[in-house]
Amino acid sequence: MRVIYTDNNATTQVAKPVLDEMIPFYHELYGNPSSMHNFGGQVAKKTAEARQKIAALINADPSEIVLTSCGTESDNTAIRAAITSNPDKKHIVTTRVEHPAVKNLYEHLAKRGYRVTFVPVDRKGILDLDYLYDSLTDDTAVVSVMWANNESGVIFPIEEISREVSDRGIVFHTDAVQAVGKIDIDVKKTGIDMLSFSGHKIHAPKGIGVLYVRKGTKFSPFMIGGHQEKGRRGGTENVPSIIGLGKACELVGEQLEEENTRVRALRDKLETELLKRITDADINGVKDNRLPNTTSIGFGYVEGEAILLMMNEFGICASSGSACTSGSLEPSHVLRAMGVPFTSAHGSIRFSLSVYNTEEEVDYIIEKMPPIIERLREMSPFWKQAQEGKLKN
Ligand SMILES: *Cc1c(COP(=O)(O)O)cnc(C)c1O
Repeated sequence: MRVIYTDNNATTQVAKPVLDEMIPFYHELYGNPSSMHNFGGQVAKKTAEARQKIAALINADPSEIVLTSCGTESDNTAIRAAITSNPDKKHIVTTRVEHPAVKNLYEHLAKRGYRVTFVPVDRKGILDLDYLYDSLTDDTAVVSVMWANNESGVIFPIEEISREVSDRGIVFHTDAVQAVGKIDIDVKKTGIDMLSFSGHKIHAPKGIGVLYVRKGTKFSPFMIGGHQEKGRRGGTENVPSIIGLGKACELVGEQLEEENTRVRALRDKLETELLKRITDADINGVKDNRLPNTTSIGFGYVEGEAILLMMNEFGICASSGSACTSGSLEPSHVLRAMGVPFTSAHGSIRFSLSVYNTEEEVDYIIEKMPPIIERLREMSPFWKQAQEGKLKN
């Protein structure tokens, strides 16, 4: 069966050139890069080249790159390093819309004596910057604000926030997992101390993550072991994935232009046409200042899970805006933080495109969605009530 994959904020396909570069490092070039012999040494040379490409994507120095096992590990490492380096400070700041990799760590730290500020967003997903700046004190150890939201696609003004925060001598970390490869990032133009991103969101494999640590930033390792990553992360390097990530960083750097032109146009077409053809549908989040590949649309009076099941019949893959991982149908913490009305939050679908999507695929989705929503609304008592209410008004 045909698969139309529009769930790229969840994970991406490993690009073919990425896979091709990785394969020799499983069976032929399997040496340990830390070994003394040339057989391992040639691998070390290749991982060093990959590290250069990874650093180049965000304009960092290769020595500022720490390779980890995933975005989650990078986030955990950064935040824990910041609080370990500032043991007397007991206040930490983040937003209400972070990925669980940051949100749940902050909640964990709140139970262990930290005072936590969760900065709110408005109905459009825009961050309350005054609230953030007003919360900062001499006791603040770290501020962690994501660069772009994985659900709404809304981009936060990280260059400005990072400068404001670091000017006050507070460590600034950003979860840039969704931003890297979609918007231009130059860490040298910012006050960012630490930045996380992940391989599998940019067409590299799962199981490899990056933590940028600005030169001079106090650091302490999360994974204690061997001297790998200059003592900043123990554990034998995941060589094939590092090689793959190097290639992926090179590719997404080259494709940044296409992402912001062709992919953006496909996203805009998908969004505009769906809103034109389906009543009581709304975009979750501000329209400009959004990732070029993402749209989250709330279809009123229907259940996201039911929509996804019917889309699945047509091979269309996307995500709903509910916390389905917990087995509940509660709207996600992101949509709740934005104050999206329940009638719309429950029926929210996130489409996230990539450079591998075609216009023909988008046209297919535009054709299939309206009858899906219509059929579900015919069965929805809430929809019937809403229509009767409208008739009365
Ligand atoms: C996917 C994602 C993560 C987690 O990355 P993993 O590599 O899957 O651990 C963290 N933050 C954001 C914003 C994400 O989208």
